[in-house]
Amino acid sequence: MQPAQRESVEQVADIAIVGAGAAGLFAAIWAGRTLRQLGLSGASESASRHPRIIALDGARKLGAKILVAGGGRCNVTHHAVDESAYAGSSRNAIRNVLRAFPVARTVEFFAELGVQLKREETGKLFPTTDDAHTVLDALLAECSRVHAELRHPWRVHRIERLGESGEPSTDGNAPRFLIHAAPDSGHPPLQARTLILATGGMALPKSGSDGAGYAFARGLGHTITPLVTPALVPITLDPACFLRELSGVTLPASLTLLSGSGKKLVSFTNSTLLTHFGLSGPGPLDISRYWLEQANADPACRLVMNFLPAMNVESLDAALVEARSMTMLRVFDRPATALPERLVRAACAHAGIDPASTGANLSRTARRALATAICALELPATGSRGYTFAEVTAGGVPLSELRLDSMASRVTPGLHIIGEICDVDGRIGGFNFQWAWASGYLAGVAAARAAIDALGLTEHRPRV
Ligand SMILES: Cc1cc2nc3c(=O)[nH]c(=O)nc-3n(C[C@H](O)[C@H](O)[C@H](O)COP(=O)(O)OP(=O)(O)OC[C@H]3O[C@@H](n4cnc5c(N)ncnc54)[C@H](O)[C@@H]3O)c2cc1C
Repeated sequence: MQPAQRESVEQVADIAIVGAGAAGLFAAIWAGRTLRQLGLSGASESASRHPRIIALDGARKLGAKILVAGGGRCNVTHHAVDESAYAGSSRNAIRNVLRAFPVARTVEFFAELGVQLKREETGKLFPTTDDAHTVLDALLAECSRVHAELRHPWRVHRIERLGESGEPSTDGNAPRFLIHAAPDSGHPPLQARTLILATGGMALPKSGSDGAGYAFARGLGHTITPLVTPALVPITLDPACFLRELSGVTLPASLTLLSGSGKKLVSFTNSTLLTHFGLSGPGPLDISRYWLEQANADPACRLVMNFLPAMNVESLDAALVEARSMTMLRVFDRPATALPERLVRAACAHAGIDPASTGANLSRTARRALATAICALELPATGSRGYTFAEVTAGGVPLSELRLDSMASRVTPGLHIIGEICDVDGRIGGFNFQWAWASGYLAGVAAARAAIDALGLTEHRPRV
């Protein structure tokens, strides 16, 4: 950039955050809190030394995902979070970040903001109000209290790295990034010394998280994993699959992913919803990213469903042998083998059996066919419902490219990358927000410390 152009830039931030979703808001709050401990936030008196935090977001209304989360109740976190609930980058790396801001701190943080959380039977934590607005309002109020400015709609179009080709700067506080809105937006570019990239992934693109951040990360020297796919996403089944006729049936079931060579890779047992397109509900959502990832590399992999997770083909076959005088409808009405009648009739039809037949009437082949349809049904999965219906994105910036104590880039000085844009995705249950909180906390604190250092206030560094 030419010096004349640079002079026309009016807007300056010490810390710019691109994306004010869960991770970006958390980073803004913790940067603000860290500065406040020194009286260095925007409200303090020595105006020349105020590090300025500005979070930009393209959305007209902030917090779309916080508001839709958990069916509008916002599943803020889970009572037992550890790295085993996540996939993507190495579990060790994920653990290091999660440990910096454990669940107890999330609970304490929200309590300080007046948001009490309650734990449900599943281990999920929700606000006691059962209203996601409580969570979003508290986060926005805290941003305001710590003088983190939120600017929106301010969609970032391009991010330029400064000082690469121009004259070397002797100013330790010189800006390193120039953030541009679209040329017709009317927003002048924003200079920043520290940049926190928190643009999310591609799930629910109408919320504003449409993957633009991946291009920014690449432009700033990072890689994106070769595979980026929807995760926590409903799975589509071949139109001929009999399960598609059972829309509305919900039951606990287990889903197992087998490699093309038959090796068991992962299994989830949880509530499953049969729909007109295929499968939804927690079990299918949890396994979706593993199946999509495996199917990409190993098209012969298989998804197998068991509608009676406590049984297998052999034990169900034995139960059918034992039920000599009972009809199939009666067998699957008993507690140990209870299934919805619609499913029983459809499974019998699939196996070529009259549901009014008794155990004694069935040939061994017929019994095995029915037991397989119920306990080891190979699913003709065809794909997913895509980002529009996904809760999260698998893939992104590998954690190996970031310093895990600050989420700082190992490639580009002054850059931090947090939240869903990272190659980390969690299971259903509050794990994805916990990742956003933990990574946002680390980047916010580190960015504030860097701002303090850049302003020559190192001796006053707060302990947070
Ligand atoms: C329907 C649904 C329900 C969910 N429920 C839960 C739940 O109950 N519990 C849970 O833990 N997780 C849940 N999740 C996942 C969770 O919402 C995300 O993992 C989390 O919001 C990610 O936070 P983030 O800040 O990284 O990204 P996001 O929340 O996606 O925020 C990114 C922000 O960046 C902005 N942005 C993107 N590009 C630009 C740009 N170019 N310029 C300016 N701004 C930009 C976007 O407008 C957005 O505000 C749910 C997700 C969905 C879709």
